[in-house]
Amino acid sequence: MTLDLAYVRGFDFHCHVDLHADPASFVRDCERERIFTLSVTTTPKAWPKNKEWAASTPYVVPAVGLHPELVGQRYAELPLLISTISESPFVGEVGLDGSPQHRSAFSQQREVFAQTLKESQRIGGRVLTIHSRRAANEVIELIEQHTTHDRVRCILHWFSGSASSARKAAAAGCFFSVNGRMLDGERGQALVSTFPPDRIVTETDAPFAQEGERASLPWDVMRTSERLAALTKITTSELNARLAANAARVLRFAGVAVKPEYAAT
Ligand code: MN
Repeated sequence: MTLDLAYVRGFDFHCHVDLHADPASFVRDCERERIFTLSVTTTPKAWPKNKEWAASTPYVVPAVGLHPELVGQRYAELPLLISTISESPFVGEVGLDGSPQHRSAFSQQREVFAQTLKESQRIGGRVLTIHSRRAANEVIELIEQHTTHDRVRCILHWFSGSASSARKAAAAGCFFSVNGRMLDGERGQALVSTFPPDRIVTETDAPFAQEGERASLPWDVMRTSERLAALTKITTSELNARLAANAARVLRFAGVAVKPEYAAT
């Protein structure tokens, strides 16, 4: 299946499709709205179902993951995660969470994330969507230690570290996926402004982020791109062209067939 970027209205590089009430119809909504959606999983056991739901459309692509907040309970699923990476060019949600309530499993989290990075590096052509709450520097160090840019592309999802960590991540070749919540305060806007323009893609983390009074939805990325354009002081169409070019680079890296006419990089 080929994704024709001339028809894509926006990109959601981090969405929990399987945490919505009716995932199969949610996938059809993403296609109808023409939003490319990366369907992340929190356990590798959810991968086959996500793959099945996404099979009918180029607009939704599944990723195999093991969420760092679940590693304490689901450490035994590490071998399943590792063995599934060969089948899935997209990997996530993975990473580290250094919050107090997840600290007791931090060494297991490190083990899972390091093995994920090593297996992705071994296979090559993998794109990872990475959680790094209260663990930005540890995440960046493991990425540097175990991967190279030519084999693994890392997208830091909802990055909330310091500006100096963001610079380190950019120097390590990371991309950043940005949602509306990250642009709500001045501090968030200042942080997002430090991300290199050619490394930004959009996301929602639906249904976990709020958009006004309701849970976020993939098509909220349209509003996020308007806000990013305002922040960057360029037009929304210029910003959208930039996001499409960034997305095309990431998708091609993962072997997704992307129609080339529109996707100049
Ligand atoms: Mn998430």
